[in-house]
Amino acid sequence: MQTHLADFIRDTPDGRSADAILRKCVHCGFCTATCPTYQLLGDELDGPRGRIYLMKQLLEGAAVTAKTQLHLDRCLTCRACETTCPSGVEYHRLVDIGRAVVAERVARPLGTRLLRLALREFLPRGWLFGPAYKLGQLLRPLLPGSLKAKVLPRQKSVSVIRRDHPRKMLLLAGCVQPSMAPNINAATARLLDRLGIATIEAEGAGCCGAVRQHLDDHAGARADARRNIDAWWPHIERGAEAVVVTASGCGAHVREYAHLLEHDPDYAKKAARVTLLARDVAEVLAAEKEGLLGLLNPAPHPGPLPARGERGKNHPLSPGRGGEGRGEGARRSAFHAPCSLQHGLRVRGAVEEILQAAGFELTQVADGHLCCGSAGTYSILQPGLSLQLRENKLRCLHAGAPQAIASANIGCIAHLQAGTPTPVRHWVEVLDEGIG
Ligand code: SF4
Ligand code: SF4
Repeated sequence: MQTHLADFIRDTPDGRSADAILRKCVHCGFCTATCPTYQLLGDELDGPRGRIYLMKQLLEGAAVTAKTQLHLDRCLTCRACETTCPSGVEYHRLVDIGRAVVAERVARPLGTRLLRLALREFLPRGWLFGPAYKLGQLLRPLLPGSLKAKVLPRQKSVSVIRRDHPRKMLLLAGCVQPSMAPNINAATARLLDRLGIATIEAEGAGCCGAVRQHLDDHAGARADARRNIDAWWPHIERGAEAVVVTASGCGAHVREYAHLLEHDPDYAKKAARVTLLARDVAEVLAAEKEGLLGLLNPAPHPGPLPARGERGKNHPLSPGRGGEGRGEGARRSAFHAPCSLQHGLRVRGAVEEILQAAGFELTQVADGHLCCGSAGTYSILQPGLSLQLRENKLRCLHAGAPQAIASANIGCIAHLQAGTPTPVRHWVEVLDEGIG
């Protein structure tokens, strides 16, 4: 696509980045078919190709209106369009730039501005969010239905493993997850401990910065990234092998650190190293397949992972082969792959393979590429579209009559759980309990 960016942005880092992305787009429209908001609204401007066109216009100096803002705000940043695009258009980077330009030119209504400010300043601060969330859990029985649905019940006592091993990996605690579901990181630490890997939650690390980035506070997001790099760097210098992230939304954002800080002379190299070390827990466990198989089947060794279709049938944790009665192990489950896992990190099939090797029977889920409507703060800022997407997603997840739903991102887990009585949990917790 030919571009003629306006003077205000042409020779800036964002301008150069946007120009390169726009030039890759050949306007074929393949992406439109897999866009959740286009599917719901049927308007070209609520699909990726239309949004790209809007952003091209505004970066070329056209007038920006509240309507432009609305179409960009409705985007989930789910990145399904990137998976579909044959030209490698990095849509998420373009929409970050486009939204920031629009935010400077179009004032949002006061209520929306206050809500966005509150989300930006409240969610990333664990010391503020944690006590408030605990209070919500205490008062949960008294809360009205809509609010009650947003608060996960308190997890029972969580046993945290901190044994030392020669192999070490950093583990991102994040901002909201430690309060909402502390057992997710605890289960990850237990699993890695059994594989001979010590985990470190570095003091001083916190929110990955995704919340601020998605709310157009790019400077705040870069500050979050720098703070995390400072907290992790001494451990990386001492040989930490990876930065493990258990919320795929945060993992996809940490992968962006190299890009976010590429023009920062003090942090560019460190950020590039962190991007290389960032791993979703699924990538870590898939790479430790041999050790994991040893845990799933201590003796005799089960050999390679069973072929697709055979998995789960003859495994020691499978129903009917010693799997019964081992905690949550033997269950018929549906797996919801978060967009950040499948489209952001491009991790596809790894979780399913591990769960099936552990004896879980996974149900078929139609339209697995579509977003559940959580999408960071989207469920709060665009509640109508978010609820429609959740309804559609739950219909697909329930179609196979699962006893439980597993996922890989705290946002999706809380969002889906608010709409179903079927338990929704992080897959590492389920695996950890299955292994016992
Ligand atoms: S699929 Fe890619 S190249 Fe085609 S319109 Fe969408 S973003 Fe552009
Ligand atoms: S990121 Fe998702 S919602 Fe946004 S344009 Fe792409 S497919 Fe559509």
